[in-house]
Amino acid sequence: MFQGSKTLRELNYGAFPFDPARIDAVTLTHAHTDHSGLLPKLVKHGFQGSIHSTEPTRDLCAVMLPDSGHIQEMDVEKYNRRRSRQGREAVSPIYTMEDAGRCLKQFDAVDYDVWKEVAPGITARYWNAGHMLGSASIELVVRSADDGEPLTVFFSGDIGPNHKLLQPDPEAPAGCDYVVCESTFGAKDRLERSGDERRRMLCEEVSRAAKKGGALLIPSFAVERTQEVVTDLMQLMDEGAIPRTAVFIDSPLANKASEVFLDHADELENGNTLRRAFAHPQLRLSQTVDDSKAIGRLGGFHIVIAASGMCDAGRIRHHLKNHLWRRETTVLIVGFQAQATLGRLLLDGARTVRIHGEDVRVRAGIRSMREYSGHADGPELGTWLAARAPIRRGLFLVHGEGDARAALAERLPRELLPQQRIFQPQIDDVYDLDAETARALSTHRQRRIAPDTAARLDWHNDLTSLVLDINETVEAATDERARGVIIRRVRRALEKPGK
Ligand SMILES: [Zn+2]
Repeated sequence: MFQGSKTLRELNYGAFPFDPARIDAVTLTHAHTDHSGLLPKLVKHGFQGSIHSTEPTRDLCAVMLPDSGHIQEMDVEKYNRRRSRQGREAVSPIYTMEDAGRCLKQFDAVDYDVWKEVAPGITARYWNAGHMLGSASIELVVRSADDGEPLTVFFSGDIGPNHKLLQPDPEAPAGCDYVVCESTFGAKDRLERSGDERRRMLCEEVSRAAKKGGALLIPSFAVERTQEVVTDLMQLMDEGAIPRTAVFIDSPLANKASEVFLDHADELENGNTLRRAFAHPQLRLSQTVDDSKAIGRLGGFHIVIAASGMCDAGRIRHHLKNHLWRRETTVLIVGFQAQATLGRLLLDGARTVRIHGEDVRVRAGIRSMREYSGHADGPELGTWLAARAPIRRGLFLVHGEGDARAALAERLPRELLPQQRIFQPQIDDVYDLDAETARALSTHRQRRIAPDTAARLDWHNDLTSLVLDINETVEAATDERARGVIIRRVRRALEKPGK
């Protein structure tokens, strides 16, 4: 599922660039929405085969996909109300909760480290990618039509960092024909994050927030990030390193995901610490809207963890609206914030933000920690790839913005493979893998969008940021007269030239 700019997200509504009915099988690396979010749409449009995933991935999808279907239905309802006021016809959701339920029946569980035939002539082996509960890198062996050597292709999926709280370090084989590797943080230099270091930093942030005496709001992704932060928080509280206070998880999705984590605690690193944290008397799980409203009425130091992770939807927005204008509040950002999201605006120091149609002054302290990243950083990706040697025919760098992919290509040791065998494909490219190295096919269908728009901010983002800049400048002006001058100048710039 495409995430990010509006232009990119609109692709989710368009047709697939292939016929879903002709797909034999899906091999799924992990449950994150950008990897799994369009599976119900694939089924809705005719895919009848199996979706092969690990058991925890299936269990997480059983929670996340219906939730995603529900969000699609809600979004479209709002969008259609606006369209009907404009006299335009209604559109239908990408998929519904019911579609998601149907798709779940096609999941087929796979164990790590065991070969399985996933489609005629194709066997797969899943390796633990250490990125999140159930995450895998997938090795595929494709039988050759003329009884020659089979073709081996290894898909990294998303790769976790070393020292991740609930995950082992990533595991993978060496000696494949092709490797398809993610490059999300290919341009990021080393992030130091041993478990002790990460907890020490969290301890500092919480202690600072406690001294200010207001709410500590932690916007968090519902799956894995919430469970990691809670595990660290409760451990710090038990050690007496931070004051005892109520910790609320105000997210029905996070609470359902936590149940899946507890079911699979034996398969996780530090599974017992996770169990202890979720049995902690100071941990409160909020379910209903009334629970959520009751939290909103609390004063003094307390901790609220709520989704969404980038503050662009969900209950966190209510809490932010309630607390951002108070000096004693702290907001602690623990995840990646995409351009143009509310989380990113806060991180970038916005003085006023708009929530539910109201302008809210930002007086709270805005803090951030990068130590909870779910992805390997640049040096870790480079080391991971070097350990896959020999890569016989070609390497594809995917799942990263342009500079991240280029930076990762730079990091690779020269002897790993020649530059002309490292590919940085664009959206909708098609390659023939049968020859000595990959060959781009020029005969493929037209691209859905120009390659350089994929990772770029679009005009929607530019417009939002322009309007915010105008507001800020006008507000910062010394008096009425100065404000009038700025507004007249902006108006003049909007007039057609020569008028
Ligand atoms: Zn992921």
